[in-house]
Amino acid sequence: MTMAAPEAPTINPLNPLLYSLLEHRFGSVLIANAGASAQVQRYKDPLRPGKFIKRAQSWGEYYRVCCPFCKEDRHRLWVNHTYGADFIDGRRMDTHLAVCYNDGCLKKEGRLEQLSDLVFGGGRQLQTRAVIRPPTTDYVIKDIEPPGEIVRIDTLPDYHPAVEYLVARNFDIKELAERFDIGVCVNPAYSSYGLMKGRIYIPARMDNKLVAWQGRIVGNRSVAVKYYTQGRKSQMLYNYDVAREQPVVILAEGAPSVWRMWPAAVCCFGKSLSLWQEAALATTWGDKPVFIVLDNDAQEELEKTTQKLCARNMNVVPVILPDARDPADYTRPELFTMLSAAADAVEVKTDLSFLQ
Ligand SMILES: [Zn+2]
Repeated sequence: MTMAAPEAPTINPLNPLLYSLLEHRFGSVLIANAGASAQVQRYKDPLRPGKFIKRAQSWGEYYRVCCPFCKEDRHRLWVNHTYGADFIDGRRMDTHLAVCYNDGCLKKEGRLEQLSDLVFGGGRQLQTRAVIRPPTTDYVIKDIEPPGEIVRIDTLPDYHPAVEYLVARNFDIKELAERFDIGVCVNPAYSSYGLMKGRIYIPARMDNKLVAWQGRIVGNRSVAVKYYTQGRKSQMLYNYDVAREQPVVILAEGAPSVWRMWPAAVCCFGKSLSLWQEAALATTWGDKPVFIVLDNDAQEELEKTTQKLCARNMNVVPVILPDARDPADYTRPELFTMLSAAADAVEVKTDLSFLQ
């Protein structure tokens, strides 16, 4: 068998000017949420006529570089693709859209200005407005590359740490393999995916195309990145292809909750919905009940998401979990009882028998 030589991933940043400036200044740049444009809503400012308030649903693509202030080497300084893209009266706008996840470096006085000077050269150079390319993939679902060599979970021995971990969480290995194609990344294809090695691989498909993937650490040790995600996270719903056929939909936060509440559950790999995901829920499920089951620490997001979906005339059933356990830590009969009670409370009629 001949193997095609691996190709480097195509780099096609939304803001090529900023990307090249960062590459020039910092050397290595990683892209997060590749291809997702910022989704910002503008509201009329009631206090300043003619002015607008910006509120972002999601900030989309980020460029990750090694922070020059704390001198870390894990690309933990995240710079948004709209960073400094525009300027008004000679001043670059949106240069606050960067964050150091290592040490909060940019919160210190004067640091945002220092970073802007580092990137754009202190304002003495000719200022160029950055052209932000519209995402070309918006309406076409394309396959992305997996992170490297994946071994399906049901072909690993019982004593493999990932298998042991998932069994300990009461998941059925065969089901995870057959329904969700769960595996372990044994050999990352590129050095930038190095931290995927040994992680549980969670592919997200829409229309049978790989649109995003996630790598979860094995176990519960505390690490900087518990879930490592690539792909079009804000433009997908995990388990969409199966859930769309169901009479209800359950919106959860993470993949394990979706596994537990199969087949009707979806998740957005995070706590908050993008505009795209809101629209996808509303157009796919219409007036079918939508349960929102978020982790116990996400009450604020639960309220916000409920409001957003109610505003789209959806039949929303918010579910408040009784304790700090993750939805995936309950049994299916327990979830059946909680979800049924929540539906009764808001007088939504529904069939949850698939959970029994
Ligand atoms: Zn830093």
